[in-house]
Amino acid sequence: MSAVQLGFAEPLDEPLTYTIDDFPNKIGGKPFWLNPEKVLKGDDLKCGVCEKTMVLLLQTNPSKQFYTPEDEPIEAYHRVLYLFCCMNGTCHKTRWRDCFKAFRSQLPQINPYFNPAEGTPAIEIKARLCHLCGLDGSKQCARCKTTRYCSREHQLLDWNLGTHKAQCTGTATASSVSSAIKNVLFPEYELVSEDEPGADKPSADDDDVSGDEDEDEHADAALETKLANVQIEEPDANEKYEDTDVDVDKAFLRFQNRILREPEQVVRYSRISYVDGHDLEPLFVSDIGKPAAEDITPCPHCNGRRTFEFQAMPQLLNVLNIDHYSADALDWGTVIVYSCLANCQPADGQPYMEEIVWRQMFSEHGMGDSAKAALEREAALKKVVAPAASAEENLPETA
Ligand SMILES: [Zn+2]
Ligand SMILES: [Zn+2]
Ligand SMILES: [Zn+2]
Ligand SMILES: [Zn+2]
Repeated sequence: MSAVQLGFAEPLDEPLTYTIDDFPNKIGGKPFWLNPEKVLKGDDLKCGVCEKTMVLLLQTNPSKQFYTPEDEPIEAYHRVLYLFCCMNGTCHKTRWRDCFKAFRSQLPQINPYFNPAEGTPAIEIKARLCHLCGLDGSKQCARCKTTRYCSREHQLLDWNLGTHKAQCTGTATASSVSSAIKNVLFPEYELVSEDEPGADKPSADDDDVSGDEDEDEHADAALETKLANVQIEEPDANEKYEDTDVDVDKAFLRFQNRILREPEQVVRYSRISYVDGHDLEPLFVSDIGKPAAEDITPCPHCNGRRTFEFQAMPQLLNVLNIDHYSADALDWGTVIVYSCLANCQPADGQPYMEEIVWRQMFSEHGMGDSAKAALEREAALKKVVAPAASAEENLPETA
């Protein structure tokens, strides 16, 4: 088994369904709740900047598609992590820490809602849900008294977008309802996973045994050395990117080299190494902006360690229909979730445990500049790696 599982966004041909034992990992859309009775409220998910309701970015159920045995303690036999964020990029630029929330939800195998002896029927949500976003619907439309909302904000949105006005008067069409939801939520995809291929086989099959971190580190280090040499040997290429080359962002080079194995990856999942038990590091996008040890606070419930669990990649932005040219476009280098290593269940039985989210941006030179500089180096590197053949090809015929 590879040390890292990668997640890819799979467009949906038909709506996702789920049972307790077949619980998909997914991006966007309404949350799929593990606990059918207790769901998160709008008040749990207010953006700390604009105070609007955050929406689901993705949810993972690691014990299923992401193959990691997570059945301890017994309270966490089923376990889902939810990552939410504010959709407004301006808020993220103001105070990103107030724009993300991650929650852990778990259930024992024997629980009040599902009996393993009775098979695995589709989950029936007993909670009343917001018509727009799928959070707890504590408020209802005073007129029809049937449609529910998490907040006044979503009620207004639904009314102003014209759909609920039509529903209340019985003239709504299916398409008008779904178009309202489209404006409030991220587009929905299934998140399918596979093992990260090894360093030397970018398109290796699943049965390829990889995950040798040391080997990967060596390959990364070797590439960095080559890149460093290229800079010395190619003074022309250096001149253009003087600023970036003065202080090469090693983490960025490592990041770029690593994602080349599977450039479409939108999530990396890697909790602890089951080979030697040590904590695994996220793949940082820069040497700047990494969390300090004190940023990853202990779990407030068990006082135990929180460790890296998964990270959303920049490629995720491309499947979320973000307009990168808009001034308030959502942006990140990577979004990292750290969670309680013990999967603890507080004695009061609370259904949602908040975990830590860390956002890292690409270095101040920006993705464009850094990527451009790295691509230049890569092109120069190719010349160095295969110089003999190309040199001979261009050699004029001797008389
Ligand atoms: Zn906001
Ligand atoms: Zn809502
Ligand atoms: Zn109504
Ligand atoms: Zn804990």
